[in-house]
Amino acid sequence: MYDYDVLFLGSGHAAWHGALKLVKAGKKVAFVDGDLIGGTCTNYGCDAKILLDAPFAFVNGLKRYKGIGVESTPDIDWSALMKYKKQVISPLPAALEQGIFGRAGMPVIHAMGKLLDTHTVQAGDQKVTAEYIVIATGEHPVKRDVPGKEFIHDSRDFLDMETFPKRIAFIGAGIIAMEFASMAIELGSDVTVIHHNDRALKMYPAQYVDIVVNKMREEGVKFDFNESVAKIEKSGDEYIVTYESGKTIAVDYVLEATGREANVDGLGLDEVGIEYSSKGIKVNSNLQTTVPNIYASGDVIDKKIPKLTPTATFESNYIADHILDTSTAPIEYPVVPNLVFTLPRIAQVGVSVDAAKKDPEHYDVVTVPYGKTLLFEAKNEVYAEFTFVFDKEHNLVGAAFVSDDAGMFVDIITLIINKKMTQSELNQMIFAFPTESYGLISMVTGLLK
Ligand SMILES: Cc1cc2nc3c(=O)[nH]c(=O)nc-3n(C[C@H](O)[C@H](O)[C@H](O)COP(=O)(O)OP(=O)(O)OC[C@H]3O[C@@H](n4cnc5c(N)ncnc54)[C@H](O)[C@@H]3O)c2cc1C
Repeated sequence: MYDYDVLFLGSGHAAWHGALKLVKAGKKVAFVDGDLIGGTCTNYGCDAKILLDAPFAFVNGLKRYKGIGVESTPDIDWSALMKYKKQVISPLPAALEQGIFGRAGMPVIHAMGKLLDTHTVQAGDQKVTAEYIVIATGEHPVKRDVPGKEFIHDSRDFLDMETFPKRIAFIGAGIIAMEFASMAIELGSDVTVIHHNDRALKMYPAQYVDIVVNKMREEGVKFDFNESVAKIEKSGDEYIVTYESGKTIAVDYVLEATGREANVDGLGLDEVGIEYSSKGIKVNSNLQTTVPNIYASGDVIDKKIPKLTPTATFESNYIADHILDTSTAPIEYPVVPNLVFTLPRIAQVGVSVDAAKKDPEHYDVVTVPYGKTLLFEAKNEVYAEFTFVFDKEHNLVGAAFVSDDAGMFVDIITLIINKKMTQSELNQMIFAFPTESYGLISMVTGLLK
């Protein structure tokens, strides 16, 4: 009776993982997407970013050996690196469509979709019907409404930029701005970060953000905290950025990364009675919108948990199970790790260190200055630290890290927290030695109950 069992609006991580599960269970599935297949993460986000970031992480690590064996570090050629990024990332949408999607028999309609009624989507000049619809349309960057806003670039532009500007201003000191600024300063650019309050990366532990901000300052990044941009003017080849305080700076490139808003416009949500705001689509604990046969998945949901690729993937798998009726229980998120790819990285999972410190009645906080301990001197990462959060029954409930290896550390601790692992369970296992992961595991083992 319908063209498809399930139709996905969007083809990012919030869509295709669940779609594969549905196809394996015999459902007929299709996607509607007017942009590149694979969504933000694949084309304009995580994958492109980490590919560009990788050599910066190597060079940054090498710099710690100055005076103890490595006196000079190589320059990074941004234009050549960008060429490589395009070579790797540009084929991915076609590879996904012909590979994973094609093999599974999941067609893509290349158009933006709009709901006409609760079972029908207008996709270009086609009307497509489905028993269930999953809205997985993601988010777009916020752009401030100031004179000269047409000169402001966003993360997509940065991740596609052929030549690196000599002077660059970042509006915002959140994850994306701080990650990009970390690369920019390594390239020798004159870097200014303009932020409306006095705290960068406000969701991460203040003590670790300070380590990163101070290192970036030492390298030459100028942080203009408690400043907001009033206007941007073009003057010859440069841009004059004027702050509300009256201060001006001259730069060659202005990038705003102050937040992202849900892609809800033009979807026909009002027409079919789906509740939403600029934060996203309202869903119940089964990820159903106010219209029960229409779900929302990923960044487009109005949600408290972090809008990340792994949470989008988790939601899409949950929706598939719910449609297949193998799970009618409400969605229950495990602890979600967060990682910011600054140099060094900061990561955290579970109960935040800042929240735990404010609540000593319920939590104990243990800090381990592991960078100064013997096992890690191989990396000369003296500032590196772990902080663990325990509840009063001495269960590990949170952790934070500042280190080049924070991503690996946080994933190990996420596993230990989720599985509620104890000292004796970890003591029954043998791990490779001498590695950073061994160091983490042996330290946390000693602290567990
Ligand atoms: C610069 C940057 C770096 C990031 N780095 C990380 C990271 O390191 N780690 C991490 O976990 N997350 C990271 N993220 C976040 C991550 O990219 C998102 O959480 C993830 O992509 C969300 O997946 P999604 O499927 O919900 O949305 P998206 O991937 O955004 O996919 C939405 C899709 O819907 C399509 N669409 C929109 N409107 C319509 C419509 N009307 N009809 C049909 N299709 C439509 C879009 O074209 C798009 O393809 C980063 C994001 C950015 C911008």
